[in-house]
Amino acid sequence: STPFDVESIRKDFPILSRKVNGYPLVYLDNAATSQKPLAVIDALVDYYSNYNANIHRGVHTLSQEATDAYEQAREKIRVHFNVRQSKEIIFTSGTTHAINLVASGFRSILQKGDEVIVSTLEHHSNIVPWQMLCESTGAVLKVLPINQEGELEMNEFSRMVSPKTKLVVVNHISNALGTINPIEEIIKITHNAGAAVLIDGAQACAHIKPDLQALDVDFYTCSAHKMCGPTGVGILFGKEEWLSKLPPYQGGGEMIKEVTYEKTTYADLPHKFEAGTPNIAGGIAYGVALDYLNKIGFDKIAQYENQLLQYATEQLLEIEGLRIFGTGKNKTSVISFNIQGIHPYDIGTIVDKLGIAVRTGHHCAQPLMDFYNIPGTVRASFAFYNTFHEIDVLIKAVKKAKQMLT
Ligand code: PMP
Repeated sequence: STPFDVESIRKDFPILSRKVNGYPLVYLDNAATSQKPLAVIDALVDYYSNYNANIHRGVHTLSQEATDAYEQAREKIRVHFNVRQSKEIIFTSGTTHAINLVASGFRSILQKGDEVIVSTLEHHSNIVPWQMLCESTGAVLKVLPINQEGELEMNEFSRMVSPKTKLVVVNHISNALGTINPIEEIIKITHNAGAAVLIDGAQACAHIKPDLQALDVDFYTCSAHKMCGPTGVGILFGKEEWLSKLPPYQGGGEMIKEVTYEKTTYADLPHKFEAGTPNIAGGIAYGVALDYLNKIGFDKIAQYENQLLQYATEQLLEIEGLRIFGTGKNKTSVISFNIQGIHPYDIGTIVDKLGIAVRTGHHCAQPLMDFYNIPGTVRASFAFYNTFHEIDVLIKAVKKAKQMLT
């Protein structure tokens, strides 16, 4: 039995009733971005229709309404992630922006010879900013290896961490394989060495509700669009002690206390990191997305998605020559696979003709593809609004693609 009525949930998502290439859409690219429920779409329309104004600036009523709604969203986010103070939540355009903000800030902290540890499982947006940081500071980028199952080598991690380590950056869940990383352990080991940890939660937040105080993490990032919210908005959580230490990322309006040509003083947190007019509607709608997900409940979402994952895994493995990448015990809603002798792109193209959306390619994780010595994979990724029937449709289509391509 399923923990909720999927058919009634599907009615909340207008896009799920459309057809693609003459077939009912089967949307299995949720790791790239999730679909949006009507409540979120309505919140965007409501803002632009009824109280569109710039925030934190005007004394007029519309500006106050917009400011209140935006700050209420920040408060919802604070509660959702169990953050102590709302000023520790910085609105960003997404995870990429959040990571770059921290990486840029560490330019004034790192010194030559310091070490930053990333993992083999990372998305490019959690690799490249740290490479740039290391290039500009002379710090050294170290790479935490994984095993064949796509799990972090934790014994190796304990050996790599040293007094030289200043930062450890790892994702909570791998977008390419679905591996759930042991971040509690990573955070403890890193803190014992006196270093800071950034967890990239972009992929995790649709499936898990992290308790950031319990985790005791220094930085945590997230993108609204992966969890039923709009694109172009996300958050950086940072502990106050760290956010106070880091210099501003961008200069501009909103982030200042006083500006003269001799000296500018910066605004208090969180505004110090929020230069310029933000994605106001997006922030407000992100709050609505959190309400929507919490109403269903993350326990139920995880339970159901695990059922889908297990079912799809079993069915796919019956196809001869099919190999799944990411076979660890602790994983979520993502299946990355290849069929021997067939290019992933060709499978993706054929199943698209049948209305099925999967991702093909390197999933912004080229070093991981290099580890497996493959050009890419086909990735099917599930959300709580997917159905067992849709998995059957996928399996049939993959079998058909295999037949056509061999
Ligand atoms: N990290 C991970 C693990 C991701 O899955 C993604 C999105 N695919 C990102 C970072 C980047 O997120 P965004 O594009 O929303 O900034």
